Amino acid sequence: MHLSEILQIRSSPGQCCFLSITRKCPLHCAHCATESSMEAMEELEEEDILRFVDTFSEDPPQILFLTGGEALTRPSLVHKIALKAKDWGVKVHVTSGMFFAKEPLLSPSLSKIIEGLSHFTASVDSFHEAQVSREKVFRSLKTILDMGISVSIQTLARENHDPYVKDLVRDTERCFGSNVPIFLAPLVSSGRASSWVSCQIKKLETPGEIHPCSLASWPVVNFQGNIVACCHDSITKNQQTPSHLCLGNIRNTTWKEVKHQMIHSTYLRALRTYGPLYLASQCRNEIQDYCEACMYFLPDQKKLENLMRQEKAQFIEEYAQKIAQKKSYLLPEYGSVVYSLFKI
Ligand code: SF4
Repeated sequence: MHLSEILQIRSSPGQCCFLSITRKCPLHCAHCATESSMEAMEELEEEDILRFVDTFSEDPPQILFLTGGEALTRPSLVHKIALKAKDWGVKVHVTSGMFFAKEPLLSPSLSKIIEGLSHFTASVDSFHEAQVSREKVFRSLKTILDMGISVSIQTLARENHDPYVKDLVRDTERCFGSNVPIFLAPLVSSGRASSWVSCQIKKLETPGEIHPCSLASWPVVNFQGNIVACCHDSITKNQQTPSHLCLGNIRNTTWKEVKHQMIHSTYLRALRTYGPLYLASQCRNEIQDYCEACMYFLPDQKKLENLMRQEKAQFIEEYAQKIAQKKSYLLPEYGSVVYSLFKI
């Protein structure tokens, strides 16, 4: 499954689920948004995760993303999840910091796990490269590609036209031709980076403007097992999830219930249609930061329903959905061209 297809599916509400199965990670990157390490304690119980994955039997998501920390520090769990998900026709995608690439060969057990995946993403940036060299990561990616698994790279840029990114693109094309696309995101002041990244790439925000949120489409299961309607780090890593963004907990919620809320919740629909700044202005909320306006929003159900009943709402809702999917089209189906968050 190619990265462009994944990005397109992800932007349709309730089609994907992100599962953070552990906060543990053998690497210690200076920018890590989840502040993961081998000392981090948060780890969901295997039994709870497998029970939740079993509920995919009804109306399953198309893709399940396994992430962390480092998901592959729990190899047998990843294998069990992938087997179960396959039973329900769900494709499994793993993102890794590539700690295992220090070894020249993939172990037989790791090869078996990776064989069960539909897509594999390696994090490659200057922070990861300080611990595992690009050469070693590329050697492992070549093995994974040779197994017939679709591969991509996710990287970070500190600025527009970052020379690091240019160099990575050049090297990737040289090694893999057009077989490995790159997903590029800006470095933001979050997690470990919050103490040293001062200049965030800031959106220009106008109070009350209609600016739909395209991130409120796929739920994330955080380290506490809470199912959160948004993938923003500052929301998912909080132990307390704002109630209007919390869709339940994997210990007592089924996927069918989660998907229903993702698609039909009036607040989430309004967020994907108007965005938090407009909703805040309609509810006399003074907060002007994009995500803060969402986090501290006090939903007025009647007002939200009225907003979504307006004639323009249907038009904007459909249009916003098309735009969210179109972002994925910036990445050609076949080609290692950078998909850049800077350009959209
Ligand atoms: S507006 Fe809300 S749902 Fe969207 S990214 Fe910000 S916090 Fe998440």
